[in-house]
Amino acid sequence: MNKILLLGFILISGWGSFFVTAQRKSKEKAQQLQVEQTVVPKLIVGVIVDQMRFDYLTRFANHYGEGGFQRLIRKGFNCRNNHFNYSETSTAPGHASVYTGSTPSVHGIVGNNWYDKVSKQMVYCVADPEYSSLGTTSDAGQMSPHRLNAPTITDKLRTHFQLRSKVISISIKDRGALLPAGFTANAAYWFRGYSEGKWISSSFYMDELPQWVSDFNASGIAASYKKTWNTLKEINQYLESGPDSNKYEEAFAGENGPVFPHRLDEIWDANNRFELIKSSPYGNSLTTDFAIAAIDNENLGKDQYTDFLAISYSSTDIVGHQFGVNSKEIQDMYLRLDLELERLMETLDNEVGEGEYTLFLTADHGAMNVSSYLEDLKIPAGLLGIDKYNDRFEEFLRYKYGTTDIIQHRSNKYLFFNYDVIANLGLERQKVEEDIRREILTYDPIDRVYTADQLLNSSYVDGISNLVQNTYNPKRSGDLLLIYKAANTAYGATGSDHGSPYKYDTHVPLIFYGAGINNGSTVNRTNITDIAPTIATLLGIAFPDGSQGEPIKAVLK
Ligand SMILES: [Zn+2]
Repeated sequence: MNKILLLGFILISGWGSFFVTAQRKSKEKAQQLQVEQTVVPKLIVGVIVDQMRFDYLTRFANHYGEGGFQRLIRKGFNCRNNHFNYSETSTAPGHASVYTGSTPSVHGIVGNNWYDKVSKQMVYCVADPEYSSLGTTSDAGQMSPHRLNAPTITDKLRTHFQLRSKVISISIKDRGALLPAGFTANAAYWFRGYSEGKWISSSFYMDELPQWVSDFNASGIAASYKKTWNTLKEINQYLESGPDSNKYEEAFAGENGPVFPHRLDEIWDANNRFELIKSSPYGNSLTTDFAIAAIDNENLGKDQYTDFLAISYSSTDIVGHQFGVNSKEIQDMYLRLDLELERLMETLDNEVGEGEYTLFLTADHGAMNVSSYLEDLKIPAGLLGIDKYNDRFEEFLRYKYGTTDIIQHRSNKYLFFNYDVIANLGLERQKVEEDIRREILTYDPIDRVYTADQLLNSSYVDGISNLVQNTYNPKRSGDLLLIYKAANTAYGATGSDHGSPYKYDTHVPLIFYGAGINNGSTVNRTNITDIAPTIATLLGIAFPDGSQGEPIKAVLK
């Protein structure tokens, strides 16, 4: 049968059109799969800016250059209504949530520190004496992610490619490096200050530091930041922050006031030497320096197996805690961070290639304005912690139960009962919990009190109750959970605090940029738990096991 006859046969016969349609469908499917494969980036760069509020993108926008935040926003995808969807908005839960796509109720990192019900003592989220320090004679490297109850997106990447993908995680703070790294990373590095000034790690990841890390530590780069911190631009151009000298900020030890210039070299010894770098923009510069050294020396993004570089900029948080969100220091931190992002992306363009990597930028929590500043503006705020009510509370316990022993442990936000004592006294558990809940609710700074039973036996779909439920972890959380009124904190009269379910703590940036990412923005609500599923979908790999979020469809090409 010649070709013309065959064509005629196909056109006449019904089988022919079926045959042609089937062929076209299978070709389309193949093309579709091919498209899904070709957008796989060579490198994912996850950037967490510690304590970055969403409005830092807009408040300082006039000062940002073209190569940093503006580049991400103009060429990437900006999720403008992105929030933490749980109430314990602090550093360790934040990093764990971004990378596991889940909330403390699932990943178990319920705070930076918490009271452990089994050992009956306070534990630090990543401390692990089972492992030894690398690069320091101190115990600062005795860390692991062992208290994290869920694998991370970085774990999923490693196992998907049979450990051929490289995962490197970097942060000044140990928890900022360890939690994004997960269990299978090649390395997590964090900074040891004091007299050492070195990037360190844990034997959890490796037997000894790679040569390039030892070389970096010996290079004197960290010591080069022992210098004056002055504003990047003329300070009178900083119209988006309060006066430099004010009572809402805390000066460094050895300074006369919390004002520029901060002569780090002169106050070096009074502020624990290399620890001082962490409290300045140079902590972020040093983080970029080290991240660039990692890109070079680990050959990140050079082969067909997608690599992952997790970077957490911690110094923004440390400066925020000292000077507050309205300070000249915070404005200067973000103008300088903008330059760090530009430097990082220029390196990625050169080493990996523009369009070959995907970067996302978010935060681990926001921050509130200094309470005493808000009070001066007549905005409702308060400086009383629950500790101020200690005497009244103990008096209540003794009057009601004849003893204070029914309380096993108390912290700022949690209360743990001693149920043995309650049983021995012949008291009914639920009645005791309810009576104490009602008592604490009469204390002025407290807005709500939840019992564990309430959180276990109800399903809150929205509002603050939903955020508290997403924080509550049955094995780790307290038996009563206390929520303060907005802008009420025991933190003190200077500097910014965080850790609440309120919008100043939950609303943070989320920008995606690069390979496989659409250009645009959305004001639809997104949650921090959507990040890991979005990256998993981009890469075509398994979602982290505990992930609770959804891929953000508008972000992905
Ligand atoms: Zn933080």
